[in-house]
Amino acid sequence: MRASGKVLVVGGGIAGSSAAIALRQQGIAVDVVEKYLPDAVLGIGINLQGNALRALAGLGVLDEIARAGFSYDGFAFFDSQGESRGTMPGPRAAGPDYPAMMGITRPDYSRILNRAVTAHGARIFPQTTVDALEQDANGVDVKFSDGRRERYDAVVGADGIHSTTRSMIFGALGAPRYSGQAVWRANFPRSVDLLHSYDGGGGDRAGLAPLSDALMYMYVTDKSDTPEPPQGDLREKLREKLAPYGGLIGQLREQLPPSEQIVWKPFLLVDLPNPWHNGRVIIIGDAAHATTAHLGQGGAMAIEDAVVLGEELGNHDDVSDAFDAFMTRRFERTHKIQKWSEQLCRWEITRSEDADQQGVIAQAFELVRQPI
Ligand SMILES: Cc1cc2nc3c(=O)[nH]c(=O)nc-3n(C[C@H](O)[C@H](O)[C@H](O)COP(=O)(O)OP(=O)(O)OC[C@H]3O[C@@H](n4cnc5c(N)ncnc54)[C@H](O)[C@@H]3O)c2cc1C
Repeated sequence: MRASGKVLVVGGGIAGSSAAIALRQQGIAVDVVEKYLPDAVLGIGINLQGNALRALAGLGVLDEIARAGFSYDGFAFFDSQGESRGTMPGPRAAGPDYPAMMGITRPDYSRILNRAVTAHGARIFPQTTVDALEQDANGVDVKFSDGRRERYDAVVGADGIHSTTRSMIFGALGAPRYSGQAVWRANFPRSVDLLHSYDGGGGDRAGLAPLSDALMYMYVTDKSDTPEPPQGDLREKLREKLAPYGGLIGQLREQLPPSEQIVWKPFLLVDLPNPWHNGRVIIIGDAAHATTAHLGQGGAMAIEDAVVLGEELGNHDDVSDAFDAFMTRRFERTHKIQKWSEQLCRWEITRSEDADQQGVIAQAFELVRQPI
């Protein structure tokens, strides 16, 4: 497509914002439509592993993320009572100048990405969605929820797990399914320098992840028959969930924030079959391959998608050649990450005794260390 093209990105989250920056780096004109206001981002925080840091460095936003977030070098493992079970370094993929991992709050992360999208000259249309897409051999006509109509060379669906772009193009293919597990999360003043992971013994896992100099979050996984959130006093329910834990997790159980600051989220999975494109429309990020958070790689895969898409659209005159080249570089890598993440999740749900969590994590780190 090269620099003369014009692309619509649907969704201004991690994949969409990163794609907008990557496409602008190729000189391609970009519009982004986002369903919500830019400062509406909720959620606790995110861990960025080495491959995410490497991709963010390429997008030119890593130094700002490092200033707002917290840099660290890997994992510390504990039993449920807080007895040490060893440490593991994270994948140092971004080079000698960067740490293995960083944590950052979701609102800070979103603010930095949004600012970069605008600074690179992409237009963002908040509180806007796509009502209809109609494509022919030369372009895509888009009708927006605000009544505007515009024609693009290509459309990128980066609108997350419940993607309407995916439904418009692929119908029920890739519809989300529930993993059988959810996760509780809450923020605390930071007191750890690594990502702490506690084996709950009964199939659940708790942990602590640094987010900034001041903050960390605590999480505990929850085998649940339904993806519907629990009702009632979340603080009391989380306290019960944490009852088997000692060590630092046990101490924090007695200092939980109020219910409205506690988040419960189901892990939903999306596996859109290869290829993720049809004509001039392509699906990326969670909309194509949402996974559980057991490897902390969902966001990293979304940013890598964006970087590769920018490179391939910049390298090819023909959109479908670019999309084919994109799939060759992305499908197998994201598929392995999904498979391993789900395996870790399954082992927790079934309380498997021959689970080799650290082996799978090491395998995944070896993969993501490889260049995209
Ligand atoms: C509990 C939990 C913890 C996680 N922890 C990590 C972690 O530590 N590290 C990591 O790398 N990943 C982690 N992930 C995964 C990560 O959050 C996702 O992979 C990532 O957010 C995917 O980015 P995305 O842009 O594809 O989707 P999203 O972040 O969902 O963004 C989609 C965007 O599209 C917008 N949108 C939706 N519908 C429309 C529409 N119709 N029109 C316009 N806009 C629309 C949304 O408002 C949103 O802004 C975690 C996930 C969960 C659930």
